[in-house]
Amino acid sequence: SKLIIAIDGPSGAGKSTLSRLLSQQLNYINIDTGAMYRAVALAASREGIDSEDCQGLEALCHRIEIHFQRENGHESVWLNGEDVSEAIRTPQMSLLTSKIAACAEVRQAMVRLQRQMGKAGGVVLEGRDIGSVVFPQAEVKFYLEASAQARGQRRYDELVAKGLEVDLQQTIHEVEARDAADSAREHAPLLRPEDAVAIDSTALTIDQVLEKMMVVVSQ
Ligand code: C5P
Repeated sequence: SKLIIAIDGPSGAGKSTLSRLLSQQLNYINIDTGAMYRAVALAASREGIDSEDCQGLEALCHRIEIHFQRENGHESVWLNGEDVSEAIRTPQMSLLTSKIAACAEVRQAMVRLQRQMGKAGGVVLEGRDIGSVVFPQAEVKFYLEASAQARGQRRYDELVAKGLEVDLQQTIHEVEARDAADSAREHAPLLRPEDAVAIDSTALTIDQVLEKMMVVVSQ
């Protein structure tokens, strides 16, 4: 049967990598919900819509088109027909995304889209509120975590690999600050669903986490 698999957790815990690998292994669709919020943030910054202007953001959500594409194992995010996979990953965009994601109307629009994309099953969704809000009925739920140090280091490695000049301590600090903001907000805080399988990836390799996940999925 085609399952709905939810992966939640803070940034840098390995969600993106693991959900990509898991979906490839199962031949499932992969939905990076953070990338959807990031695409909204990019569209807002380009149109000059303020992160506090919830009504403006809501209208924006209804006139943009977001989709994912997978080609030869390479995954990309598209906004209005443009590949924005790189543009949405800057530290500035991370910060702005966390702000616009606090708007309830934006969340409503994204949750609706995510439900449409995932309802047929055969899908891995990763984010902050998948197992709690988007698909509470998901057959498999994971909660991926790691120490702040490990998460900051991973984010730093990603940014450096992209040729961005960043500072490790500052990156760790930004990751922690964004998680604090994500957890503190009123709408869809970062929650660990009670029925989620928790995996701490601090001392595990990607393959070891994937193996643990496959054991759970196969049960
Ligand atoms: O996972 P990623 O770092 O790309 O997410 C960027 C931001 O999008 C998060 O910091 C969070 O504020 C927001 N987000 C969210 N709900 C999700 C996924 C991401 O609010 N399901």
